[in-house]
Amino acid sequence: MPEGQFKQGIAGGRLSPEQYADNFADLHPPFDHHEALVESDRCYFCYDAPCMNACPTSIDIPLFIRQISTGNPIGSAKTIFDQNILGGMCARVCPTETLCEEVCVREVAEGKPVQIGRLQRYATDIAMAENKQFYTRAAPTGKTIAVVGAGPAGLAAAHRLARHGHEVTILEARPKAGGLNEYGIAAYKSVDNFAQAEVDYVTSIRGIDIQNGKALGRDYQLSDLTRNYDAVFLGMGLGGVNALRADGEDAQGVTNAVEFIAELRQASDLASLPVGRRVVVIGGGMTAIDAAVQSKLLGAEEVTICYRRGQEHMNASEFEQDLAAANGVIIRHWLQPKRVIAEGGKVSGIELEYTAMDGERLVGTGERLTLVADQVFKAIGQSFVPVALNGSGALLVLEAGRIKVDAEGRTSLPNVWAGGDCIFGGDDLTVSAVAQGRDAAESIHRALTSNGRA
Ligand SMILES: Cc1cc2nc3c(=O)[nH]c(=O)nc-3n(C[C@H](O)[C@H](O)[C@H](O)COP(=O)(O)OP(=O)(O)OC[C@H]3O[C@@H](n4cnc5c(N)ncnc54)[C@H](O)[C@@H]3O)c2cc1C
Ligand code: SF4
Repeated sequence: MPEGQFKQGIAGGRLSPEQYADNFADLHPPFDHHEALVESDRCYFCYDAPCMNACPTSIDIPLFIRQISTGNPIGSAKTIFDQNILGGMCARVCPTETLCEEVCVREVAEGKPVQIGRLQRYATDIAMAENKQFYTRAAPTGKTIAVVGAGPAGLAAAHRLARHGHEVTILEARPKAGGLNEYGIAAYKSVDNFAQAEVDYVTSIRGIDIQNGKALGRDYQLSDLTRNYDAVFLGMGLGGVNALRADGEDAQGVTNAVEFIAELRQASDLASLPVGRRVVVIGGGMTAIDAAVQSKLLGAEEVTICYRRGQEHMNASEFEQDLAAANGVIIRHWLQPKRVIAEGGKVSGIELEYTAMDGERLVGTGERLTLVADQVFKAIGQSFVPVALNGSGALLVLEAGRIKVDAEGRTSLPNVWAGGDCIFGGDDLTVSAVAQGRDAAESIHRALTSNGRA
């Protein structure tokens, strides 16, 4: 009977406890004091800094780096939190290689950007470890706001509203707050229960009551919220997963990648988490990479990502793709799933078809390929589930399946705002959800008070 990594089928305990601990250690270990000073010294403190313009939350990056270089990490953290109260998580998960660091003048000139993300983490970690609180609440306004969803968008909105003196109730369907920070982000990007530490940090401003296990559409309706609160912010993220549209996708062993990752994030013992020996992941985004890399780190012997277009079309950044390759994940392009092959109801392989571009259109070439697999992950995108909005009375207008909002985050319903992944036009990043939650909160504040003053 094969042992460990080579156990047949989907099994747990493929590795030793030491291997699990090693594999799931911090992806980018934090800078120590000396490293932070050396790195901050590389910054040119550019005027009209391109890095700052590339940050969805517009953090004053040259200022916070200068504050680190002058020995003021606490002041630096305040500069970050002024724009982004979830700056600690964003420092860990932002694809900086396609945002601030991509446009850093040192990247452009030398191919080696200032490591802005790691400097941001250095400053915010110090402030959070010392529990430095920078904000006090304004005098109570007497206004109440319901926030649906305790993800990055909801938490950022709640914090800004609480700062303005409003009373905020967050209604969250899941048992823990944090949204995908808690249930989605790869385990090696957010170690040591950081997501919950950040929720505690954000809510320590007071005036934010988080109620878990309260799902819109199941436990209450939108009309209940608009009746009982002065304003509502919807930050529900994306609850659905796109189907493979391949025959036999109901076979045992075909798993939704987001659910697998959520289970992994909540597992107290990684050895208890079963994973296939030969895993195929269908998709080309961050979720596909995370599911593939984490399968490999859990001890899967062979992990292959199959993506229907070319490398240059993948949503996952070059850094993420390199991370997958460095962990032994094979990425194959121009392949789309056609049929899940099962034996006794369990996945034993997957048949794929080669694809090609026919002008602007992606088409199957008819040529097929079969890969042996005992587990197949679906990671071909998430979708907004509007079912929670049924029974809301007036209709909330959607665009391309997500909530339609204006530039301030206002929906088609009076007193209802929305932000984060559930709205149309976003880029499905943590930092963008934070920016949208914060900006919608400012809009709510302006609407509920006279000229923005309570
Ligand atoms: C696997 C995975 C990995 C990712 N990795 C990265 C990364 O490395 N970097 C990055 O920048 N982005 C990453 N993202 C994207 C990022 O996590 C999201 O863009 C971000 O979390 C969106 O925030 P949000 O607040 O809009 O939604 P969410 O984080 O999804 O939070 C929504 C919250 O609403 C709750 N909710 C849903 N429905 C209801 C309801 N009916 N009633 C009450 N509450 C409800 C949910 O339980 C959840 O807590 C990743 C996404 C996934 C899926
Ligand atoms: S672009 Fe680079 S060098 Fe210029 S301020 Fe930003 S981090 Fe510093």
